[in-house]
Formats: sequence, structure tokens, C-alpha cells
Amino acid sequence: MADRYLHLTGTAPGRFLTRRLGLPQPAPLRRWTLETPHLDGPLLHLTAGASAVTGVAEALRTSGLTVTERADRPAAIVLDATGVATAAGLGDVHAALHPVVRSLAPGGRIVVLGTVPSPDDHHQAAAQQALEGFVRSLGKEIGRGSTVQLVRIPVARIPGGASAHAAGSTLRFLLSPRSAYVSGQVIELTSAAPDSGSGPTPITDPAAPLTGRTALVTGAARGIGAAVASVLARDGARVIALDVPGAREELESTADRLGATALPLDITAPDAADRIAAAAPDGLGVLVHNAGITRDRRLANMPADRWASVIEVNLDSVLRTTDELLKAGTITRGGRIVATASIAGIAGNTGQTNYAASKAGIIGLVRSLGPRAAAEHGVTVNAVAPGFIETKMTAAVPLFIREAGRRMNSLSQGGLPVDVAEAVAWFAQPDSTAVNGQVLRVCGQSLLGA
Ligand code: NAD
Repeated sequence: MADRYLHLTGTAPGRFLTRRLGLPQPAPLRRWTLETPHLDGPLLHLTAGASAVTGVAEALRTSGLTVTERADRPAAIVLDATGVATAAGLGDVHAALHPVVRSLAPGGRIVVLGTVPSPDDHHQAAAQQALEGFVRSLGKEIGRGSTVQLVRIPVARIPGGASAHAAGSTLRFLLSPRSAYVSGQVIELTSAAPDSGSGPTPITDPAAPLTGRTALVTGAARGIGAAVASVLARDGARVIALDVPGAREELESTADRLGATALPLDITAPDAADRIAAAAPDGLGVLVHNAGITRDRRLANMPADRWASVIEVNLDSVLRTTDELLKAGTITRGGRIVATASIAGIAGNTGQTNYAASKAGIIGLVRSLGPRAAAEHGVTVNAVAPGFIETKMTAAVPLFIREAGRRMNSLSQGGLPVDVAEAVAWFAQPDSTAVNGQVLRVCGQSLLGA
């Protein structure tokens, strides 16, 4: 379902009229294409006070942008605020960004680097937590399709200080058109290096970082799952696209288009994990739990079968297949599990007690299993939490609620399936080892659950 309002505000009379009426002004977002893989302009690297980490300049270079300490019209600004440890030090954040924020190009990126608030130093914790409020507010006011995020770099347990080395894949994603619909997010990197013990796995082919890995995507016949399969295939993975046997025709046509293998299978089948393992004899490098259903009713009107089917597809099958595939060693060391939550699992939603429970359950799963899966299997576990994404699922939403869903976020528009897929691909990167137990909202900084 096309966003006609976005089209209208892209015309001069439409812009004039909607401005006069005080209506939202969504800026068209620029997504990744082969021809335009990078933001259009330099990256301004600033530091608030003194940095507490090493390796920031090296990590920034992975973005492919020209890094500079002075620029008239930067496409991105990275503020290293890792050394801000007092309330007074927050003045350095203001002093660094206040003079340059207006010069950021439309569709620009601001990334603030912080560290984890300390449980032992409440002044440092206050200052570092303050960055979260700062980033979320700037994301709401910056406009023109620009985004703002906070990346927390862990404090080193090793002598020699913390390093931003492990932040490479995260900065590459956030400082690119791939993260067009991600804003107001806080990403906390871990210091553990599950797959090698010595830091992130290097990428041999930057254009196809997933070469040699097999990725299985559930619910891949259409919508977000088809976009995930497509982006993972673009990044070089061999893709197995799974969907219910009832969607076989659509699944096969999606798989054919992507050069993927179709696996018609209901993910709730008792032997689903065995069937997946049989389809991937060399193991899986990436497992994406995307299949999901809604069966909306208010709790008072919800029969047990509607409750049970949603919990079964969206949560129980994810828990079961994850456990079985990890136990069997089907997910190889250095592997990536990505599950699909929803902002409904964070904010709650009328008529969706079953759905929101299942999606909040995914968040619980990811946070609990992430550190253990890393320690025991060398596998990371993360989730995307999409907001309003333009798919068949949201096209079925009544018009008024659909319009509200589209506009109630900092970018004043819905996201596209590819926006979620790019976030999944970031989790799946071989050098995303330090990204674990995270839930990334892909919601344009939705007001729901903010
Ligand atoms: P969709 O309905 O277009 O696609 C879901 C796919 O999952 C379908 O192809 C369906 O056949 C498949 N599926 C359902 N049950 C299955 C099962 N038992 N076994 C295997 N496959 C099964 O939905 P979508 O909008 O693309 O959503 C994808 C995921 O993103 C879901 O988990 C959904 O909850 C989540 N999500 C979507 C939005 C959004 O705005 N569209 C927002 C938040 C979260």
C-alpha cells in the first residue's frame, strides 16, 4: 500500500499545504544501492573532552567515508563521548555538537560513542546515562531524514584500556544508507569475543561478507522474510528460504528469484529442527527467526486457540528450534541467531495481548541466551524489533490506524522490509561478534514504547 502522503509532501503544493496545516513533513529516505553504497559527504569526527578508548579513528575508517575533523557539510558526525564521566563533562557534548548540528546534510547520521554506565561510579553512570536522553531527544528534533544513535563501547577488563576495534561493523551499518529507518537507538557492545577469543572475525570479501555461510530464514515467502533472504543473498550467503507448505508457490518463486533453496515446512512441526538440520548438512552460519502471525482480539474475547497459535508460532517454535539446533551443533561456531520481536512487545497494543506477549518473550530469550550461547557455542543471539513496516500485514490495518502508525515516529513514515533486513544483515556480519543480546528497534524512533 503506497504512502500517498509521503508522495504529496514531496510536491511543492503539497509541501506548502501540509506545512500551513502544521502536518508532519517526512523526508524521503535514501537506502543502500549498489551505485550509492555510502552517504554522500565526509564524516566529522569530534571528541567531547578526552577519549577513554583507543582505535576510534580506525573503526571509523571502516565506514568507507572520508574522516575529517573539520567539514562544512558533513554527511555524518561521530562524537566520541566515552570520556564524559561527570555532569560538568556534559558541557563538552554541547560544545562539540551545538556549532555543527545545523550543518549536517539531509539524511545525515549522528553517532555518539559512550561507555557502559558504571555500577561503581554514580557520577560516571549519571553522565553516561545522560547521553541516552540526549540522543533520543536529538533524534526527535533533528528532522530532514537524519538519525541519531548511541553506541556504548565496553570498558576494558584488560590493561591498556578499552578499544573501539569491535565497533567496526556497527559503525559501518549506522554510518551508511543501510540504517535509514533506525533512529534513537542505544547499542551496547560486549567485550566478549565468542567465536575466536581474539576479536572480530575479519571479512575477506567486503562486497560479499557472508560468502561461505549458509543462512536459513523462516517466513521467507514474502514480506520482511523475503527481504531478509534477499539481503543475505546479496551479502554472499547461501540462503534456505523456509515457509509453510500452504505458501509453497510464493516461496518457490521468491527462492528462484534469489537463487535460494526453498524449504516448505511449518516451523511448529515437531520435527522442524531435524528437517532444518537435514536441509543444511554443512551447518548454519545464520538462523533468522522471522515467521510470525497475528490473531488479534481483546483478551476478554480471545479464545484459547487464538492465544495458543500466536505463542506457538512466534515464541515457542523459536525457543524449541533454537535449543535443538544449538544442541545438535547445526549452528556453527561464529554463527548468528537473529529473532524477530516487535515494538508491540515493548509498548503493548490493544487487541494484541497474545502477540505482544510472544514478542516480549523474544526479547527475554535474546537477552538471556545471548551471553550463554556466546560462551558455550560461539554464537551471538540478537533481535530486531520492527515498528510500522509497509507489508501485507500492515496493509490490512484499518486506514486511520495505519496512517497514525506511519506518522507517529521521528521520520514520519513507515519503514520498508529492506530496513529490517539490513539490520538483520548487520547482526549477521562475521565481524559483529561484539553485538550480542541486543534488541534493535527498526521503527524510525516510534513514539510507541519510546
Ligand atoms: P507476513 O505475514 O507478510 O509474513 C510472514 C510469513 O511468515 C508468511 O510468509 C507466513 O506464511 C510465514 N509463516 C507464518 N507462520 C508460519 C509457520 N508456522 N511456519 C513457517 N512460516 C510461517 O509478515 P511480515 O510483516 O513480513 O512480518 C514478518 C515478521 O516481522 C513477523 O514475525 C512479524 O511479527 C514481525 N513484525 C512485522 C511488523 C510489520 O510492521 N510488518 C512489525 C513488527 C514485527
